[in-house]
Amino acid sequence: MSAEKYTVLLIPEGSHRVRRLTLKRGLVRSVVACVFMLVLAMAWVVTDYVHMRVDRQELHQLRSANLQQRQDLQRLAATLDDLRQEMVVIAQNDAKVRVLAQLTPSHSDALTGIGGPPEDEGLSAAADLQRRIDELRQSIDLRRESQEEIQGVLNDQRSLLAARPKGLPTKGWMTSGFGMRNSPFTGKRKMHEGVDIAARTGTPIYASADGIVSRSETAVGYGKLVVIDHGYGYKTYYGHNSKLFVKVGQRVKRGDKIAAVGNTGTSTGSHVHYEVRLNNVPINPKKFL
Ligand SMILES: [Zn+2]
Repeated sequence: MSAEKYTVLLIPEGSHRVRRLTLKRGLVRSVVACVFMLVLAMAWVVTDYVHMRVDRQELHQLRSANLQQRQDLQRLAATLDDLRQEMVVIAQNDAKVRVLAQLTPSHSDALTGIGGPPEDEGLSAAADLQRRIDELRQSIDLRRESQEEIQGVLNDQRSLLAARPKGLPTKGWMTSGFGMRNSPFTGKRKMHEGVDIAARTGTPIYASADGIVSRSETAVGYGKLVVIDHGYGYKTYYGHNSKLFVKVGQRVKRGDKIAAVGNTGTSTGSHVHYEVRLNNVPINPKKFL
C-alpha cells in the first residue's frame, strides 16, 4: 500500500453504471484507526458491564447476608435480655437469702440497678452484645461468690446447732438444780455447777451434742467421768457413772450412748451430775432444754 490514493469501484446489482470512489491514503488510515478505537472502546464497555453485573449480584448477596446477620444479632440481643431478666430475679432472691443469713448486701451489681444500665447509642450491635455478656458474666460471678458465702454461714450455723448442748443426758428426775446450795456432805453453802438427775444404776447416758470425748476417767469428786468438747467453747460433764462407754479422742454424735448411771465419786445415790460449760464457765443446763 504505497499508493497515495485508492480507487473503490461500486457496481450496484442489475445496473450497468459503475460508481468510482477515489480515497486518499490518509483518510483510509484514519478510518481504520477509528474503527480499531471503536472496537477497543466497545470491548472495554462490555467488560465493564460484565464486571458490574457480577458486582451487583455480589452486592445483592452481601446485602441479604447482612440483613440475616442483623436479624441474628437482634435475636441474640433478645435472648440476652431474657437471660438478664432471669438474672435480675436470681440476684433479688440472692439478696433476700443474704438478709436471712444475716450477711451484708452483695457488692454493687450492674444488673440490680434500677432501670438497668444506660444504653450507649455509640456502641455497635456486636459491642453492645459483648457488653451485655460481660455484665451477665460479672453477675454470675457475684452470685457464685454470694452462694459460697451463704453456704459457709449455713454450715457454721449447722455445726453450731449440732455443737450446742440440748436437753438432758438421761431419763430420770432432777433432784438438785444449778446454783448455790447446802452441800449434802459438809452442810456448807457451795456452788453446784450442774444439775443432778436421779436414775437407776445402769440407765444409759447420752451425749447432749456432737463433739469429741476429751476425758473418760475417774476424777476426784466426779467419780467415773466423761467430758465432751463440742467446740465453739462448749463442754459437757457427766459424772458419778457406773460405766464409761467412750474413749478419749472419740467423736460422738448427739444421742450416742456414752456412759451408764452410777454412784461413783462424791455421791449420795445413783444419779448423773450433768454440767454444761461455756469457755470453762459452768452455766445452767436448764438454759439448754
Ligand atoms: Zn451434782
